[in-house]
Amino acid sequence: LRRGLASSAAAPPSLPPFDHQPRPYKGMPGEEILQKRKTFLGPSLFYYYQKPLNIVEGKMQYLYDENGKRYLDAFAGIVTVSCGHCHPDVVNAVVEQTKLLQHTTTIYLHHAIVEFAEALASKMPGNLKVVYFVNSGTEANELAMMMARLYTGNLSMIALRNAYHGGSSATIGLTALHTWKYPIPQGEIHHVMNPDPYRGTFGSDAVRYAKEVQDHINYGSPGNVAGFIAETFQGVGGAVELAPGYLKLVFDIVRKAGGVCIADEVQSGFGRTGSHYWGFETQGVIPDIVTMAKGIGNGLPLGAVVTTPEIAQVMSQKIQFNTFGGNPVCSAGGHAVLKVLDNEKRQTHCADVGSHLIERLKILQQKHEIIGDVRGRGLMLGVEFVTDRKEKTPAKAEAAILFEKLKDLGVLVGKGGIHGNVFRIKPPMCFTKEDADFLVDALDYAMAGM
Ligand code: PLP
Repeated sequence: LRRGLASSAAAPPSLPPFDHQPRPYKGMPGEEILQKRKTFLGPSLFYYYQKPLNIVEGKMQYLYDENGKRYLDAFAGIVTVSCGHCHPDVVNAVVEQTKLLQHTTTIYLHHAIVEFAEALASKMPGNLKVVYFVNSGTEANELAMMMARLYTGNLSMIALRNAYHGGSSATIGLTALHTWKYPIPQGEIHHVMNPDPYRGTFGSDAVRYAKEVQDHINYGSPGNVAGFIAETFQGVGGAVELAPGYLKLVFDIVRKAGGVCIADEVQSGFGRTGSHYWGFETQGVIPDIVTMAKGIGNGLPLGAVVTTPEIAQVMSQKIQFNTFGGNPVCSAGGHAVLKVLDNEKRQTHCADVGSHLIERLKILQQKHEIIGDVRGRGLMLGVEFVTDRKEKTPAKAEAAILFEKLKDLGVLVGKGGIHGNVFRIKPPMCFTKEDADFLVDALDYAMAGM
């Protein structure tokens, strides 16, 4: 039998060997943190795991809890850790810059911001050459939306159902997932059908989904558009790769209606898909505005908007300023990230390890009925659990049990999808084939009897 089809092992699989000794933890115990967090950080409903983990140290693709237990981080923080937790080159760049000058803003000159902007611009296709640094993905999308509206003179924004674009009062309007949406005024933002090949009404038929966008512009909007925004691989929405050809068709429609096209690369950029550096390249398009965050800083609070000089011109009418955007510490760190990803050939690595992992997951799918779909590319993968493959009934309770079991076995994945029944596998890009095998074996073991 090929690996993955072997009957579930009696003994749980072991983590691959890893040469790192975590420091003994002498800090506040997790139980106490949880109590204080409830008091001082608001009544958040959003915890992973029934007993949330107290993570105290990270090294490359591994995390350690307060008891020194090691976990394979198959979710890269929240898809934030591109190079690996505490990658030495990134740490050094940050530490050296912090010692020299912790903060200055763009009202003065500093070499780190322009060096980083130049390096980032060199990664962009077409005329995407002007960079605005911000602190998060939310801020990046907020600025992109503002640019689209100012540049076109239109108001109407189009986003996809199931999208996640941020949590500020403006970007919450772009976000479609009801679990995140607070009921505040969200004027002139419309959501069109999600071109989701697995769950979408039209399957992979990009032409029909695109027609719905045209219909929306014709009959459900002022007839013009400020901008269209899409994650080229939906993240929070459940690791969904948009139907092939969709963005090409929709970009044409939106541009004809006077709008600009925005790619949200907060999760899918920097080579994670393996086949391309940017997610939008998998659809053969060049956007007018690209937003990014998360992996850009390997966990530093950093985001960016990259656009064309022509669109950027519109931002010179008034002062556009961000106190921390492009601060020297984050710029030095972000620049180090770009170099690490190049030097360590992480894009090719993602393609290589990702194809091994997806192949093994597809074999696992043959064995376990509960796996309804295995999807994605590179290290941007999703596994969707269903109780009935034909009806695609979400296996919510089962996914919740598996999620806990995987954690106990030492594997952390992300959860997503509107039903919370999708495991998102987006590890740091240094994740190895041995890690992939361990993850699949752990999943196989956890699913025994389901
Ligand atoms: N866009 C996408 C695709 C995201 O996944 C996220 C966060 O998960 C955001 C935007 C918002 O980023 P941030 O949480 O840094 O504000």
